[in-house]
Amino acid sequence: MFSIWMFSTICLVVSVKIAEMFTGINEIKYNLALIYFLRECLQVMLLLTTYYFISSPYKEIFDKVSNKTIGFMSLYPLFAFLLLINNYTTSIKGLKSLDYTLNMLLLLVFIILGYVFVFSGISSASRIISMQYKMERLEWTSSSDPLTGLYNRRYIMEKIESEFKRPKKKKFSLVIADVDYFKKINDTYGHDCGDYVLQMISKSLMDSVREQDFVSRWGGEEFLLLLPETDVDGAYTLMNRIKKIIGEQIIEYNGSEVSITMTFGITDSQDYQIIDDIIKKADNALYEGKGRGRNCVVVA
Ligand code: GH3
Ligand code: MG
Ligand code: MG
Repeated sequence: MFSIWMFSTICLVVSVKIAEMFTGINEIKYNLALIYFLRECLQVMLLLTTYYFISSPYKEIFDKVSNKTIGFMSLYPLFAFLLLINNYTTSIKGLKSLDYTLNMLLLLVFIILGYVFVFSGISSASRIISMQYKMERLEWTSSSDPLTGLYNRRYIMEKIESEFKRPKKKKFSLVIADVDYFKKINDTYGHDCGDYVLQMISKSLMDSVREQDFVSRWGGEEFLLLLPETDVDGAYTLMNRIKKIIGEQIIEYNGSEVSITMTFGITDSQDYQIIDDIIKKADNALYEGKGRGRNCVVVA
């Protein structure tokens, strides 16, 4: 509705200017027909342009406007119609001034209503958008770890459960990875440096996995990776690649250069019916890796 009103106003102004150019300012009152014709042409052109170029963002905004607002907005064409029929000036002399006043009043109502509808539409859409944003934020905070930005333990457990419940159960792999001698990093460089190292590791993990994989912070310096539709061989190859990347990484913090290694325990979902069993198995593999001297990948 706003576009129609806006286009109509723009077109009128442009048409008056064009008519002025062709006919001269004094003759303008005799050339109303030309103005209206030009205005209609421009309106059609602008509406077509809108349709082709901005219809999709318009639709997105419109989808967010409440039904009540749209209900009110639908009154707008009625006023447009009233204004239109009132444009035909009466030939009865006595009614001419009344006709003019009424015309002006209608135009005023038309413009004010245009503003009211547009602003109520925008405010209702922005209210809905801000509510959606708040809900998304809430969802994100409840599912993520504040230090690393990775998924938290609660969320990854839900994900593992949903992998288990998939109707056509597909094989997935699960990895528990632990930073080697992390306590030493805290003791040598301080807790803040330890935090920074955890953030850098998280980034490396995220950068190295596929889009469909899930990386979570399982506990202090432990990470759990859920790799859907991946067998142990695939997971083994991927984890060796990540082990190499992390092992070669030099993390700079306040002038110090910190390097770390990680140990990985892998298992896949085959033969398991209980989530705890599969997690325990990956944990055992990790433990075995620590026993083997760390900085390695072990398959359960
Ligand atoms: P290992 O190779 O056997 O895993 O040795 P480790 O030193 O990594 O393991 P240990 O369990 O002895 O120590 C883990 C340390 O991680 C102890 C704890 O203070 C530290 N830690 C846990 N969470 C955080 C954290 O959020 N930030 C920092 N900076 N340190 C953390
Ligand atoms: Mg550790
Ligand atoms: Mg640990």
